[in-house]
Amino acid sequence: MRVEIIFLGCGGGRWATITQKKATGGFRIHTNKLRMHIDPGPGAIVRLNELKISPWRTNALFISHCHPDHYNDGEIIVEAMTQGMTKKRGVFLGSLSAVEGFGEYEHVISKYHQSKLEEVRVLYPKDEVELYDTTIKATHTKHGDPFGIGFRLSTIYGDIGYTSDTELIPQLIDDFDGVRILIANIVRKKNERIRGHLCSNDAIDLINSMNKKPELLIMNHMGIKMTNPQIEAEYISQNTGIEVIPAKLGLKVELLNGKYKYHLIK
Ligand SMILES: [Zn+2]
Repeated sequence: MRVEIIFLGCGGGRWATITQKKATGGFRIHTNKLRMHIDPGPGAIVRLNELKISPWRTNALFISHCHPDHYNDGEIIVEAMTQGMTKKRGVFLGSLSAVEGFGEYEHVISKYHQSKLEEVRVLYPKDEVELYDTTIKATHTKHGDPFGIGFRLSTIYGDIGYTSDTELIPQLIDDFDGVRILIANIVRKKNERIRGHLCSNDAIDLINSMNKKPELLIMNHMGIKMTNPQIEAEYISQNTGIEVIPAKLGLKVELLNGKYKYHLIK
């Protein structure tokens, strides 16, 4: 049995994305049957090839909202999933804005690309669907894109949560209570709050409000002002009592029965 998370970067926000000081390829979740790419920002396809992870075997794509650090390489992922648009294959799950567009937000996977997918679904918070050998439930956000979603993925070895881009809102406590691993998009350090995003202190408040805290918090989508993620991880850990690690290009986390382990792939 296999449940693993692989990071194709750890950066987010405009400055980290434009400078590529931190990679912005999103992350993957692989189980025995699922090979999902989540939020493939700029460089996702480059990072996959760099780390020798086959893009061809991808069978699901999740896009949380309509900002390019989350969707930019999405169509290339669809082209890989569909074997170069020759086969009808794969699932695309996303926010209303990402899938269909809404107002000034246009759909981010073209209708042409969507036509080659086996299944395309809009998810709203609390929607739950079966996805190969897992179940995925959309979670709440408060962000620039009003339709943004995160998720809670239930696997054979427990739940993995992903906040996506969001402010600290009370719904997050319930959405992620009891997940084994929480991937949180923490843009800035300490108490440097910024609209539409989490800072370290927000993450601390979120975790300390849960009945059952996660075993591991992974800091993701860090902005240019997150100058020392390791020190920040220790700060969050000291204030929550759980293990905290910053995401990194090539970080692979394996979930096992009752434990987890991680290392860097090169
Ligand atoms: Zn965003």
